[in-house]
Amino acid sequence: MAKKMHPVQIARRISLGIVLVGLTILTILHQKMQGIPSIDALDPFGGLETLMKFLAGGEFIKKIEPGNIVLFGAVVALGLVLSRFFCGWFCAFGALQGVFGWIGQKIYKKRFVVPAKIDKVLRWLKYPVLAAIIYFTWTTASLVIRPYDPLAAFGHLSVGFPDLWTEFAVGFVLLILILIGSMFYDRVFCKYICPLGAVNAILSRVPLFRIKRVESTCISCFKCDRVCPMNVEVSTVQAVNSPECIACMECVTACPTKEPSLVASLAGKAVNLWTPIIIGLAIYIGAALIGQATNMLRFVAPKLTDLASKGTINVADIKGSSTYAEVAAAFGIETERLYRELGLDMKKVPETTKLKDTAALAGIEGFETDTVRFAVAKILGIPYAGESAATNTAAKPSEPSAAPQAQEQQASPAAKPAAAAFTVPADFVLEGTMTIQDVAKALSVSTQQVIQKLGLPADIPVDKPLRDMKDQYGYTMTTLKDKIKQ
Ligand code: SF4
Ligand code: SF4
Repeated sequence: MAKKMHPVQIARRISLGIVLVGLTILTILHQKMQGIPSIDALDPFGGLETLMKFLAGGEFIKKIEPGNIVLFGAVVALGLVLSRFFCGWFCAFGALQGVFGWIGQKIYKKRFVVPAKIDKVLRWLKYPVLAAIIYFTWTTASLVIRPYDPLAAFGHLSVGFPDLWTEFAVGFVLLILILIGSMFYDRVFCKYICPLGAVNAILSRVPLFRIKRVESTCISCFKCDRVCPMNVEVSTVQAVNSPECIACMECVTACPTKEPSLVASLAGKAVNLWTPIIIGLAIYIGAALIGQATNMLRFVAPKLTDLASKGTINVADIKGSSTYAEVAAAFGIETERLYRELGLDMKKVPETTKLKDTAALAGIEGFETDTVRFAVAKILGIPYAGESAATNTAAKPSEPSAAPQAQEQQASPAAKPAAAAFTVPADFVLEGTMTIQDVAKALSVSTQQVIQKLGLPADIPVDKPLRDMKDQYGYTMTTLKDKIKQ
């Protein structure tokens, strides 16, 4: 007869199940409905990345929302109080590995363990991964790990294989490898690669929460060692100090002695096993509630038309999931006028099209949601400095355009929504390693403005380093450096 599961483990599986199922549903809905955040906006690690970018350049990363910072704050608070409790109780990717681990156990009837010598070396890998991500986030303007992120690939499975492969080929391959690996070894990604696990492992050095072993009652049955998914040797220590411990409590709930041989302790004092669990749930759920109350953490973004009716709409509120009809209605613009400004053909790009699908439908590479924001700002005659700038001005759709007739006459083609003229700071240096997106971010303008300024063809990829496209597009870095300064 199967052994009854301890209530703590039932609670943990419910917690992980809710996070995994909830995240999966949101990522599917994101592809189908407007206003549902992407997986990028739900990943706590994005909070660290965008904070790094903010500290380095005073701006947040595209695709990252304030909600990431709330979630990352919750992970840090959890890490300081309860070590890697987040990994054991709230991580969707940990849960996914657990599901595949369970499948593997059903098939092979056993768990495999990486030899201790190799395991010890591999565990250090997650720290250089974390350092590399922080470095590249600091020095670039993009969500640098996105194409390689297996969780991001998982969150985009519903876009279909061709799009998934185009955007997340590496992340998808990693995802498959990790899930196959999880069928043999517990939590391979958490142990060896996860940068958020590395952050939590560092935070776990604050010794507030620990599992302690009572030597006088321990019968050295080694059950605790066998059930530990992180291969911590519990049976030989007085207190579990390992940065690998994810506070899953599997060892505690598996310990067979009548008088407990493993106890949870907080600040050195033994506590009921449920105490750290309740504190952990309170911290994470509390942070989510505070995020909701302050509007920083959103699971459903308000519709553009709702924002318009409240008079709080802003050009920056336009999302890739908005449709042209919604944008036009919310900002009080005629759809035809918007299409003319963007140079789009309504037959190719119907007004029910989501902005993010424009590039594929119209065949305009580099067409971004910001292109539409610039176009709307231009039609309304209001300033808009670009996605990364903090100076976006609220648009009042009821207000007429400052000079509609003049703007009508100036209407320009789609991929050129705003004039290329902009001021380039004297100390700005155009590097061959920069992409057009990097330049646009650094100068707070659209990619189209950069393309125009540099005299490049409209279809040039905006996400490739400039030096890599010299031969294909026939320019030299010297000419580009001259043009950007003109
Ligand atoms: S030591 Fe115990 S609580 Fe920590 S990861 Fe291993 S089984 Fe879980
Ligand atoms: S499971 Fe309990 S009794 Fe067995 S070795 Fe671990 S602490 Fe000792």
